[in-house]
Amino acid sequence: MKIAIIAHNEKKPDMISLCVRHKDELEKHELFATGTTGRLVSNATGLKIKCMKSGPLGGDQQIGSMIAESELDLVIFLRDPLTAQPHEPDVNALLRLCDVTCTPLATNITSGEIMLKALEAGVFITKKEN
Ligand code: PGA
Repeated sequence: MKIAIIAHNEKKPDMISLCVRHKDELEKHELFATGTTGRLVSNATGLKIKCMKSGPLGGDQQIGSMIAESELDLVIFLRDPLTAQPHEPDVNALLRLCDVTCTPLATNITSGEIMLKALEAGVFITKKEN
């Protein structure tokens, strides 16, 4: 499966701990990330991750274009709802495209945990099975 991970700055520690906990599962998949998130998670876990540009510099749009092409099977985007983001329009566009394409999306650590546990348990539903 192709999985994208993105985390706003305040949520990067959550993303790192999520990926550390699920490293064994995540390394079976093809991983994509916005620049800073990808580099931090890769350094912390050793996971191989294709890093796009940093989110505010276009990385969210790059991931968004993959979603528009239905190239991703899961997006984990740990959003910070308490801080204004300079690239809010890009964030909203990405989230919207997940709904347009029925791409599974987790936007906080709890739902991210559930998605990854489902993946580990082999009960994850891909779009093709829908
Ligand atoms: P970053 O981007 O991983 O490059 O920090 C995340 C975002 O803010 O969209």
